Amino acid sequence: MSNERICVLASHNAHKLAEIRAILADEFDKVLSLKDVGVEVDIDETGTTFEQNAYIKAKAIADLLPGYAVVADDSGLCVPCLNGEPGVYSARYAGEVCDDHANNRLLLHNLHEREKTLPRDRTAYFVSAVVLLFPDGRYLSGEGRVDGTILDEYRGNGGFGYDPLFLCTELNKTFAEATADEKNSVSHRARALAELKRKLHA
Ligand code: IMP
Repeated sequence: MSNERICVLASHNAHKLAEIRAILADEFDKVLSLKDVGVEVDIDETGTTFEQNAYIKAKAIADLLPGYAVVADDSGLCVPCLNGEPGVYSARYAGEVCDDHANNRLLLHNLHEREKTLPRDRTAYFVSAVVLLFPDGRYLSGEGRVDGTILDEYRGNGGFGYDPLFLCTELNKTFAEATADEKNSVSHRARALAELKRKLHA
């Protein structure tokens, strides 16, 4: 019997898969995608917190794949002056059928509207909650955050989602300008996974 440590990542997002694979490389021999295991499913994210949604995703996949450990991440951008928006709705901010560009445009539109009457405040942060659900139902979670500000125009060509508008304070570049290693050295997801790893080894 193989002693390979394998887990499945409950996400269709290729960017997240690459980031999480790199960060979990020392914990698992293989981090399989849903495509790798032949699962095509749309999961309703009905939670009101990032951790609830991460657990909902992990559980939905674990129910389909008995015997596998499942990792799920739920993440988003929070802008305090917009009452925490887009928050848990980050992926579908501009509507159920939308793309990264539409979400970024709506974010800038909402900031510009607010700035017609209120002082400019571009403070923002990304949050990620990760859950590792074991086949016996036990689970561990971790949460991470990274601070930044929202620019008026895209900078950089890498990354995904809100990356080109998010100027990371610690890197002093947008996540779209950062290399994969730079982003993984500070990102919300890397920090959430680091907390999860600490719990795994406690
Ligand atoms: P989820 O797949 O439901 O967790 O949605 C996360 C959404 O939050 C993504 O679709 C992006 O819009 C945004 N997001 C989360 N993490 C990042 C990141 O690292 N960079 C840019 N956008 C992100």
